[in-house]
Amino acid sequence: MSNILAIVGRPNVGKSTLYNRLTETRKAIVDDQSGVTRDRHYGIAEWTHKSFTVIDTGGYVANSEDVFEKAIREQVHIAIEEANVVLFMVDVTTGITDLDADIAQILRKSTKPVYVAVNKVDNHQLQSDATEFYSLGLGEIYCLSSMSGSGTGELLDAVITHFDEVPEEENKLPVYAIVGRPNVGKSSMINALIGNDRNIVTEIAGTTRDSIHIHYNQFGHEFMLIDTAGLRKKTKVHENIEFYSVMRTIKALEEADVVILMIDALDNIESQDVNIFHLAEKNKKGVVIVVNKWDLVEKDHKTILEFTDKIKEKLAPFTDIPIIFTSVTEKQRIFKTIEAAAKVYVNKIKKVPTSKLNDILLPIIEKTPPPAMKGKHIKIKYITQINATSPMFAFFCNLPQYIKEPYKRFIENKLREHFDFEGVPIQIFFRQK
Ligand code: GDP
Ligand code: GDP
Repeated sequence: MSNILAIVGRPNVGKSTLYNRLTETRKAIVDDQSGVTRDRHYGIAEWTHKSFTVIDTGGYVANSEDVFEKAIREQVHIAIEEANVVLFMVDVTTGITDLDADIAQILRKSTKPVYVAVNKVDNHQLQSDATEFYSLGLGEIYCLSSMSGSGTGELLDAVITHFDEVPEEENKLPVYAIVGRPNVGKSSMINALIGNDRNIVTEIAGTTRDSIHIHYNQFGHEFMLIDTAGLRKKTKVHENIEFYSVMRTIKALEEADVVILMIDALDNIESQDVNIFHLAEKNKKGVVIVVNKWDLVEKDHKTILEFTDKIKEKLAPFTDIPIIFTSVTEKQRIFKTIEAAAKVYVNKIKKVPTSKLNDILLPIIEKTPPPAMKGKHIKIKYITQINATSPMFAFFCNLPQYIKEPYKRFIENKLREHFDFEGVPIQIFFRQK
């Protein structure tokens, strides 16, 4: 299952303002890494312990006037197909425009939940103007001000009723998703893995009709593989190809345990790849990086090291990631990719016994304790791994509020050093004891 909220609507109604508000805490991370505002259209939001992906369709608007309305209408169709909940944003200061009416007509046919957010309702007086939007025929309307944040709480309370709280079935097969920009070699990789054995390609009933899940069971490995390349949708408007591909990637990523992020050796790692990487990290997914088309690179004994350094620099601070250099066409290290994903999965579900955690970490902490704050010594007494779907640790101590980020990173590094969590994000909490 996935938790995806798509915000649709015409330009200038305030979609990105709301998007920024919802994903606020994560914004800095994306900004630092990409440096390109254009890419900043999907992120993770959290509301009352449920986290979900928000996608702001506004960034994918076509430049030329004549295709622009068509592009928006198509995005609404894509959003209905791919998201779990659609948020239709309108602007109280303009009232219902022709394009709003067009979008509403498409949305009325949707089987997915649709919420109407009437934005820019900055004061009470505007509230009565907002009633006009009931005539869109989409049921309840939610008045809000994206700018101040008023009204967003009620809207989110309603929206998240459609989302899951990280469901995880026991004994399920690991799920790997192969993602990456167009042309990096995703389909070639999948063909190389499954060969011509059409029998192992199954579409699982109950999943969205156009997402391909492959059941792989060969050479001692059994898992589900999500193929994001297998189905290429024909979009009528060129600018929407990217929007569509991002939607597919987010969905695959939400369903996966381990994300196999393929990049092209000739392009190296680009901001889009880094964004996908951070989305995986924030979603607590395992990650394997595959640098494909390695056959096209002129190499000497230093090349792999140089590539690795360059990639890790972009991924920092989460750099404990396996990086595999493949050539799908030359059939090099394809199976190694699967082995790496399997190992990351094992790391992701690994549970370190409490006694082992304390035996190894407490002496290290004793030697290098958290720096004293305001003359008070901080003492960590006890460590335990919390039962969760990805590694999560609680450190019990006297003054948890005084432990700062650098010490947290120190602890994380020690955990990685001693227990091998390669490829998986780790969460660390300090709690009062
Ligand atoms: P988008 O094109 O739909 O993503 O719209 P933007 O988020 O870029 O917002 C368009 C304009 O509306 C900007 O100038 C915002 O500052 C403004 N805006 C957004 N939300 C509000 C709001 O709640 N109240 C008011 N008064 N203005 C807003
Ligand atoms: P997708 O869009 O990510 O699914 O990429 P494809 O699998 O369709 O591959 C795009 C192009 O790259 C095709 O022409 C492939 O033959 C080529 N390609 C894929 N992997 C490799 C590789 O390892 N080396 C080289 N030289 N070409 C490759």
